[in-house]
Amino acid sequence: MSTEPAPSLFDAGWYRHARRRESPHFDARPPGSQVELVVLHGISLPAGVFGTEHVDALFMGRLDTGVHREFAALEGLRVSAHFVVRRDGALWQYVSCDQRAWHAGVSRFGARQRCNDFSVGIELEGCDDVAYERAQYESLGALLGALLQAYPIRAIAGHSDIAPGRKTDPGPHFDWSFVRRASALPRAALPPFA
Ligand SMILES: [Zn+2]
Repeated sequence: MSTEPAPSLFDAGWYRHARRRESPHFDARPPGSQVELVVLHGISLPAGVFGTEHVDALFMGRLDTGVHREFAALEGLRVSAHFVVRRDGALWQYVSCDQRAWHAGVSRFGARQRCNDFSVGIELEGCDDVAYERAQYESLGALLGALLQAYPIRAIAGHSDIAPGRKTDPGPHFDWSFVRRASALPRAALPPFA
């Protein structure tokens, strides 16, 4: 019987089944920190408009904030996420999971602040008042399975769980029961958190 470990689905933190983009918006995780949390987000630019290249441009540091009046507030903003799941389920990765992406902002999970330090951020293309697509859940399920196998993840939260009052994504239409079925984490590891 072979004792070889299963081949990793990650290469230096880059998921083999994602399209690789390299955002300039990242830095090192603090020494000793591990990936213990997945944070799920929803994003669209402009809000509620899907299939544009603006989210990609934002994370790549190339967004022309003059093209839409909503974008003025994004001027100079340096943000990223590890992954984006587009409406058709296509998965793009912007930052290695071994590095710190800038997605959570001011945030707290349990007693710990600065969730970027110890989390992977996944953005689903969407908004609070529209259901996410089946293809997005399929991609997300596969990605969560790979992440849970590769990293010591103990919880999955929404941005709204770690920045309550400030953030509402991934929103009320996000189907947490799907994550519960897909992840096999204990119930206490998923929203709603006590
Ligand atoms: Zn968010």
